[in-house]
Amino acid sequence: MSDAGYDHAAVERRWQEAWDDEDAYRTPDDVEDPTYVLGMYPYPSGKLHMGHVRNYTITDAYARFRRMQGDEVLHPMGWDAFGLPAENAAKERDTNPRDWTFDCIDTMTDQMESMGFGYDWDREIATCTPEYYQWNQWLFSRFHDEGLVERRDAEVNWCPHCETVLADEQVEGEAELCWRCDTPVEQRELEQWFLRITEYADELLESIDDLEGWPNSVRQMQRNWIGRQFGTELEFQVAGHGSVEAFTTRVDTIHGATFFALAPDHPISEELAETDDDVRQFVEHEADPEGDEPNGVATDLTATNPVTGEEIPVYVADFVLSDVGTGALMAVPGHDERDHAFATKMDEEIVPVIAPKPDDWDGETVPDAPDVSEEAFTDDGVLVNSGEYSGLESQTARERLTEDIDSAAESTQYQLRDWGISRQRYWGTPIPVIHCEDCGPVMVPDEDLPVELPEFINTTGNPLDAAEEWKATTCPDCGGDATRETDTMDTFVDSSWYFLRYVSPGAEDVPFDLERANDWMPVDQYVGGIEHAVMHLLYSRFFTKVLADHEGLEHREPFTNLLAQGMVQLEGEKMSKSKGNTVSPQRIVEEYGADTARLFMMQAAQPERDFDWSEEGVRSTYAFLTRLQEMVDEYVNGQPNGDDDAIASYVDAEIDATIAIASGKYDELTFNRALRETQDLTRTLRQYADYAEPHAETYERGLSAVVRLLAPVAPHLAEELWDELGYDGFVVDAEWPTAQVDRDYVAKRRRLVRNTREDIRDIVEVAGIEDPESIDVVVAPDWMYDALEIAIESDADNLIGELMQESHIREQGDAAASYGQDLQAGREALSMTLGLDDEHAALESAAWLIEREFDAPVSVVRAEEADDSVVTNAEPGRPAIEIED
Ligand SMILES: [Zn+2]
Ligand SMILES: [Zn+2]
Repeated sequence: MSDAGYDHAAVERRWQEAWDDEDAYRTPDDVEDPTYVLGMYPYPSGKLHMGHVRNYTITDAYARFRRMQGDEVLHPMGWDAFGLPAENAAKERDTNPRDWTFDCIDTMTDQMESMGFGYDWDREIATCTPEYYQWNQWLFSRFHDEGLVERRDAEVNWCPHCETVLADEQVEGEAELCWRCDTPVEQRELEQWFLRITEYADELLESIDDLEGWPNSVRQMQRNWIGRQFGTELEFQVAGHGSVEAFTTRVDTIHGATFFALAPDHPISEELAETDDDVRQFVEHEADPEGDEPNGVATDLTATNPVTGEEIPVYVADFVLSDVGTGALMAVPGHDERDHAFATKMDEEIVPVIAPKPDDWDGETVPDAPDVSEEAFTDDGVLVNSGEYSGLESQTARERLTEDIDSAAESTQYQLRDWGISRQRYWGTPIPVIHCEDCGPVMVPDEDLPVELPEFINTTGNPLDAAEEWKATTCPDCGGDATRETDTMDTFVDSSWYFLRYVSPGAEDVPFDLERANDWMPVDQYVGGIEHAVMHLLYSRFFTKVLADHEGLEHREPFTNLLAQGMVQLEGEKMSKSKGNTVSPQRIVEEYGADTARLFMMQAAQPERDFDWSEEGVRSTYAFLTRLQEMVDEYVNGQPNGDDDAIASYVDAEIDATIAIASGKYDELTFNRALRETQDLTRTLRQYADYAEPHAETYERGLSAVVRLLAPVAPHLAEELWDELGYDGFVVDAEWPTAQVDRDYVAKRRRLVRNTREDIRDIVEVAGIEDPESIDVVVAPDWMYDALEIAIESDADNLIGELMQESHIREQGDAAASYGQDLQAGREALSMTLGLDDEHAALESAAWLIEREFDAPVSVVRAEEADDSVVTNAEPGRPAIEIED
């Protein structure tokens, strides 16, 4: 397509075929504990979008990096293949979800191959095959065996016109209309299947602390989702309705409870709604638990405060949630922001009962009550206006009150609910249950698994319900007539253990080979979108823990390191089909090649950050790859014959520096930094070739390093250039380049050269020198490096005294005293520079850069060879500059 660029299409095709021929990305079953790198498997929608490309380039680059470092790597791919969109697409196109899904998988597989992702396709899984979903059913039975499955009533969306259950996604708009017929959707109670994740709430919460390889944001989201609260459960007497259980974390504020509030679906609220028009109006139409403002309605009831005996008004309020705590709470507007807002709105009393603990508090005196009329005081403190409890600290008061109140007991509440997995849809795993009139719901015996989906029926309702023949069966217990369960499983069940299936995708008698899973798990690096922070990532942790407790898995956490990648945006907005602001990966691959697309994305931003797609950025990335290819061509065709001189040693040091930094950055998955270093080295090599006849060995070492450092991100061109440079084998199997120096040394050396060049520029500018004749760079004398080292290590108060104990420093007289004072003044921020010899060598090797910039000869001079008047200005890390003009 682009005349100006290299022939990316030919290069990419050639290497994709070569990898394929050699099975380059296969992970044999007998490898020991490979590094497991995994991207969240996609839903086969039929089109790879930029978000996928970013996610899978991250895992692919990291997998390739680890492999070149010598690790065995497991990098599989599969399909989250069940779900509603396939069902809808099938209805629209008058086909069936299975054919549509497999068509999409075929297309996306081709697209992934065209991106050069190195997957072990022998391990591919698709969750919609009976070979996979039979294990969802088997696991459901095991969970059932362990008492982790429950059947109970739950609300579902119901369209009275279509007479069918609707998924949340099928309820449209604020008016909540059926997507198919625009009838207002109703809520209905239906018996549903639940997995009892709450049994694991404490462990799921507490072990988050150990997930050090996870982003803090995700860990916090999981903590909030589980939402454990320690508090007190106690009873309030509500006139005419007996005792009502309430939960509070702040029983210390009970003397300030000025009203009582019930959730809209609390049994008392529902009872009231039958006779009280205002309550009914509120419960049915006005309550908005998601709203910013607390709303409510007064009732005629009062509740009795169990401590003060006071009668307080009862409200029905939408900020009380029935699924959190008990659905009833005592409201303390003086010490809770939401209660405060509600009390202000309803003109209820606001009483201060907690005072901030005074700094000089004696532990007895009751402090003055704070003013809470404008704002609640929400911290712990000291009780006031609380009768015999006044003067106690909050924590003590909580313990005493919980003991003293007859109906009170310590209680732990969770936000986390059990996981409802019933879906009234076709394209999912059939829940393996048979309903018998005599025996009730009965598990399908393991030997009868899988319960396979019947052929798809295009109906307005649930196709499984319409599959009469499939539904009719016999009871495994009594042999009588029975019917199959027609609900299918939430597809999050499929994704809660798919990472285990990859270790033995063909296993016929078990969901996964236990021994291998124990060796290969956990996933070392998992990458996916932040939208999965809670459900998928929490459910996977739950499954892993259950499998550890009951199936012999020796791991309790599935993912050691997690990276939540940022979004690819277009002009500041998330790319989305519905907004029409997408860039097609297909087009980019055709115009510029997969390597360009991958490299552009990885260098545009750190993987966690959002970034804006830029066509200009894509073009300049393509131009970079084209230039690199030309450099290799030129080198191979015209073997240079330069000397191993100071310039070569500078370039050599830069090669080391680049390898040292880029390797570290790859290891931390900050590819953008690694790639910037690699591009800088490429530029240095080009400047070298422009300025001098390169030393062949050094130049080739540079090219070979650049090719390998780019290989994880631009694998096709890297293979091509590796081959052109005459190396054997695939670059993906090549050894990662190694550096002779560490990152700290590299940083010091670079800082020295950069500062020196800046100093020269400053002098030339300030002194108005038009055409410098010669430039001397004078390094500091030996004793100064010693003095600096002593100053860094010393903890003596009198640094100068300590320095003067060294005779060779003392001998320097005023110069030593003056430098000693500088060191004393800057003591907090001192850091060691390179040693004298390293500094001299580094400057000598960088001299060509200065010569090139100022077009004047440069000498790097030792202190003893220079004028004292010049040497005075030199310090370690900061040579003196002398310019003749
Ligand atoms: Zn409808
Ligand atoms: Zn039966």
